Amino acid sequence: MQKLLTKIGHWFSKHQVLIRRLQWFIILFYACLIIIPPFLPLPDEAATLINNFTVFAQFMFWGIWWPFVLLSIVFFGRLWCGVLCPEGSLSEFANKYGRNRGIPQWMKWGGWPFVSFLITTLYGQMTSVYQYPKPVVLVLGGSTIAAIIIGLLYGKQSRIWCKYLCPVTGVFALLTKLAPYRYKPDKIKWHDYANKKVIPVHCPTVLPLRTMVSSSECLMCGRCSNHREAIELSFRSPNEEILVHGKESNSIWASLILIYGLCGVALAAFQWTNSFWLNHMRDVVESWFLSNNIMWVFNTNAPWWIFTNYPDQDDVFTWIFGIELVIYILGIGFIIGSTTFGLISLATKIVNRKYEIKVFNHLALSLVPLGTASVFIGLFALTVTLLEKYANQGFLWIPYLKATILFLATCWSTYLAYNIIAQYSSSFIRKVSSLCCLLVVFAMVNYSWLLVLHIWTIKSDKIPWNTLWVHF
Ligand code: SF4
Repeated sequence: MQKLLTKIGHWFSKHQVLIRRLQWFIILFYACLIIIPPFLPLPDEAATLINNFTVFAQFMFWGIWWPFVLLSIVFFGRLWCGVLCPEGSLSEFANKYGRNRGIPQWMKWGGWPFVSFLITTLYGQMTSVYQYPKPVVLVLGGSTIAAIIIGLLYGKQSRIWCKYLCPVTGVFALLTKLAPYRYKPDKIKWHDYANKKVIPVHCPTVLPLRTMVSSSECLMCGRCSNHREAIELSFRSPNEEILVHGKESNSIWASLILIYGLCGVALAAFQWTNSFWLNHMRDVVESWFLSNNIMWVFNTNAPWWIFTNYPDQDDVFTWIFGIELVIYILGIGFIIGSTTFGLISLATKIVNRKYEIKVFNHLALSLVPLGTASVFIGLFALTVTLLEKYANQGFLWIPYLKATILFLATCWSTYLAYNIIAQYSSSFIRKVSSLCCLLVVFAMVNYSWLLVLHIWTIKSDKIPWNTLWVHF
């Protein structure tokens, strides 16, 4: 098997021209999916996946592309980024003819992936990007233009956009830690190659090829495969990067993406549509405005690029609802995130009395499988909704599938958590106490999904205000 994998890696290295052609084909397809739908009328009752291009584009983007690219990162590493992503390809192409300036210091700030992930997640919900084509142009088209501009200005034969600024680079860098293989350098072979002719390789994310251990920034483009006869695509345990290298290869920004991003704001963004809490917050807040005769907040004149505004589809946000939605997503994200942060801090303090941030970050990495499963389930719900709505397909087994995915991911996270903890303490009491803190975090994420998938769906109209406590 390893020989086959090595050959696959070398194939990518030798067929870069073919990959470029494939990239142009994908760019063309992607451009059609973004540009055409805004010029078409919005889908009506008779629209299906087959007879309506807007619905088809919607399904391709949010039903197939987004959830399954996410999943592909876990199975194949960032192959999507390095070989197929239209944004990255355009940025690199622009870089060929660009100014090749040095990378400015502000761009190297590690918080960009965290900030841009939060902003795009929130903005996507404010404008209903999953339903309407115009916000797609703004979010995906805007991001593509930004990628081209960055490519034109900065870096040399590289993908600076993918490395520092892409809104999903932080998430993908975490998910790829679970991939079962990576391009691995052999230092002895590298050294032995010293007197032979070396063909230079330009790694698009400018990685130190001889010493790289983490696959987080590797885009799996394959260009370095067989470089100095020392680098090859190699199998590894899906736990290796977190358990073995996670001690050194971690950062507070990656932890924040996991804690406040995947398990906080993203989870809130998936649950607001049937949230019991949001409905009651609306009841209280909007009644107050009504009773005080402050009526302008119920106006529906917000432009579509601020809050959803499609009167023909009966889908319009009032100003107050838009603001409540933002407060809800950020508020729930903050509450779940801060509770998670507090519990991981406590777990860190138990196993590491000095409270080193590296230990905190290492423990936070145990959330990667569960955070990935949580986001996949949320995005996969869109796939199912679109199939039910536009292809008349019903899937009674989906809730069981979701529950199974969550259960397996929780087991995986627990396994990682225990083995990380064991690296910092040999005391049984400390290990168990620290693990308990993390188990509460995992239970909280699972319970959030239980609310969305079961409790709120079944009983939301039957639960009176005075039993609100049951939701905590
Ligand atoms: S290390 Fe760089 S050149 Fe090698 S596969 Fe990864 S991104 Fe490509």
